[in-house]
Formats: sequence, structure tokens, C-alpha cells
Amino acid sequence: MADDLPREQLPANAVVFHVGEAGDAAFMIESGCVEVLGGDCGSRRLAVLSDGALFGEVALLDGLPRTATVRTLVPTTLVRIERAQVDEILKQTNPVIRHLLELLIDRFRNCRGFPDPYSAGGAEGASPVRDAALRTLVLTRDLSHAIDTDQLELFYQPIVRAVDHELLGFEALVRWRHPVLGMIMPLEFIGLAEKTGLVHRIGRWVLERAVSDWSRLRHFCRDGGPLPPFVSVNLSAAEFGEPGIVEFIRDCLAAHGMSPLELKVELTETVVIEDREMVAQVLERLAALGIAIALDDFGTGYAGLDYLKSLPISCLKIDKTFIQDMAHSLRSFEIVQSAVNLAWSLGITTVAEGIEDAETARRLREVGCELFQGYHFARPMPAGQVEAWVAAVKAEGVAL
Ligand code: C2E
Ligand code: CA
Ligand code: CA
Repeated sequence: MADDLPREQLPANAVVFHVGEAGDAAFMIESGCVEVLGGDCGSRRLAVLSDGALFGEVALLDGLPRTATVRTLVPTTLVRIERAQVDEILKQTNPVIRHLLELLIDRFRNCRGFPDPYSAGGAEGASPVRDAALRTLVLTRDLSHAIDTDQLELFYQPIVRAVDHELLGFEALVRWRHPVLGMIMPLEFIGLAEKTGLVHRIGRWVLERAVSDWSRLRHFCRDGGPLPPFVSVNLSAAEFGEPGIVEFIRDCLAAHGMSPLELKVELTETVVIEDREMVAQVLERLAALGIAIALDDFGTGYAGLDYLKSLPISCLKIDKTFIQDMAHSLRSFEIVQSAVNLAWSLGITTVAEGIEDAETARRLREVGCELFQGYHFARPMPAGQVEAWVAAVKAEGVAL
């Protein structure tokens, strides 16, 4: 990083920092030597710093003036780190790290203690960074307990046939009902679970629940078509790499008497990129059992397209950002059209997810997309609500 930063060549005796300045930059000494002077009019030497040392960083972070003077002792080269650059780096940093840094600066100034993690805002006033960081810490701390105490729930979102909106299957989507914080969505906790290794336990829980719920969901789906009724589960990269994952899935299906032909596994392009050989092996073994493989969020990754031919992928799910942009972006429409054509030429089924209105569904039908998923048809729901949803759709007696 230091290679990109501006340098200042200073002769001996140059003053870098004056008394009382807040400082809009910190400096790293690339070569040379400086003295830091404090006390009245810089009468006391506080430190001598040389190659690799940093100064001005605290004032840069907290924006407060410091009563010190920094003067070069020999010709010195300084690397200048601007406040704007630090702000940019901090913005991209994990909220927990940012918060810890803020706390350290805060303590340094005022010797404050840690606030109550459950009370957002608190006595010290609102801080979005602190709230986000504390929430992340609390969720990380509580997640293992949540799995043990049945706080996870599995919701099911219907997937329908494009031509007549007949129900063909479901995607299983996990939720966490936190006793204090309420419903937590997977995008917030799956990433944490991946970092802490808990994703394996969550994945097993999801699979067991989906397979055991299947006996009461299956009969709502249309049977006898070219596709068997199915339930789809999401597997993250970490879960794919887990030894014994194929055996676990096989045994789970056998224990519940579920046909492998009725289970679909969804993986993203990122998973494919991460460890191609390992993923290919796992997919081949799953496919050999008869389990269908869907490529999720298609169009958002950078995996190239050759894997579509080489891996046993039978379904392509076009990412909802393209579906939702289709109405006002010709480019998105063309991407969707090309994805459907590509899939068709490879004998792969396409699912459009994120359909929120009838017009989008109509255009997707026109380009030949075969399966639909989205709020326009149904939001994800607990297994216990599927029957009422099916009855309501039938009672309306009209196409969705
Ligand atoms: P995904 O696999 O792409 O799942 C589809 C997401 O789109 C779901 O969000 C679903 O509720 C949402 N969605 C469906 N239709 C619409 C629509 O019409 N409009 C909009 N705006 N959204 C729609 P959800 O349930 O929040 O899940 C988010 C992501 O979390 C999933 O994205 C998936 O990557 C991950 N996830 C969910 N459950 C699991 C799980 O059991 N295991 C793993 N590893 N990941 C999971
Ligand atoms: Ca998915
Ligand atoms: Ca998706």
C-alpha cells in the first residue's frame, strides 16, 4: 500500500507538525529520523522515531488537536497517509473492527466502558457503526445456542411452472427467530456462520428439516410432469468442502424415505470457482445419486461458462437483479434472454427468481423461461402455511 502513497523529502530541522494542529494526515518514516517535542513551546523531547515508525495517526483518527511538534533530525523521507484514504479504508472494514477501533479511540479520550450490547443507541447516543458492530458480535455469540435451542426455522418459497403457474416445488430458506432481536434473515447470519464454522451444523439442520417436511409438502406439488416435484436447498462453499457431505445427504434421504430425484441442491458460481476439482467430484457423486444441481444467482459471478458443460448442472437460476431490472433495462432483458437460450441449448432448465409483477412474468414466458419464483406468486412461508396458500390460490380461481 505504501507504494501508492505520496512521499515528502524533508531536510534536517523541518517542522512537520505544529503545536495545536488536528492534522489531516498521518506520516510513516520511510527513511530518516524525527523528534517529537511536547511541553510549553516544544521544550521537552517526548520521543525519537526512525524508519518504519508512524506519527500523527491518533490525531488523524479522532480529529482532535495534539500539543506536539515533530521536527526532522536528519534529511527524512515521509510517506503521507491522508485522512480521506484512512476514512475510505475504515468504511470498507468489518464493522466489528471499526467499532473496536472507535472504542479504543474513545477510551483513549474519555476512559469509557463497554455499552450494553442489546440496547441500540444507549446513553452515549446513536452510532450506526457501533450498533452494526454490536449486532454482529451478539449474533456471532448467540448463533451456536440458537441451533441447540431450535431457534432456526425453515421457510418454503413456491416455484411454479411458467406456462400455467402450477406448483412444481419449493426453495427452502432458513430464518433465525432471535428471542430478543426478532427475525434475522440468512444474509445476515450465514456469512457469520461460515466464518465460525457453524454453517456445517446449520446446513445439516436445514437438510434434515427440509427432508422431514417433504412428506407433507410433496402432495401440494404437481406430479406426473417432465419434472418430479422437488425441494431445493442452498449449500454454501464451506458446506461443499465438508468431508462426508454426500454420505450425509444420502443417509438423510434414506432415513426419511425421500427419493433423491426430488431433492435439488443450489450452489452459486462462487462455489464453483473456489475449488473446481473438489466441487466437480462432489457434484458428480450427488448427480450419481439422482440429486439435481441448480446453479444459483446466475450472471453475478465470474466463473466463465465452460463449467456449464463440464459439471452436471440441470437447472440455472437467473439472478433476481436481472429479473428486476428487465422492465427498464434493455441490457438486463438481453442478458436474461441469452441465459435462457444458452440453458436451452445445453438442455438445462431455467428458473427466474425475484418476479414481483405480472408484466415481468409475461415477458419471461415470452423468452422461454420455464420456472418462476418470486413475491408475485408467493413469499417464503413456514411449511404450516403452505396448505392455506394453496387453498387461497385455488379459491381465487385465476392465474396468479
Ligand atoms: P437465494 O438463494 O438467492 O434465495 C432467494 C432470495 O430471494 C431469498 O431471500 C428470497 O426470499 C428472496 N426472494 C424471492 N423472491 C423475491 C422477490 O420477488 N423479490 C425479492 N426482493 N426477493 C425475493 P432470503 O430468504 O433472505 O435468502 C437470502 C440468501 O441467503 C439466499 O439467497 C441464500 O443465498 C442464503 N440462504 C438462505 N437459506 C440458506 C440456507 O439454508 N443455507 C445457505 N447456505 N444459504 C441460505
Ligand atoms: Ca438459492
Ligand atoms: Ca438466488
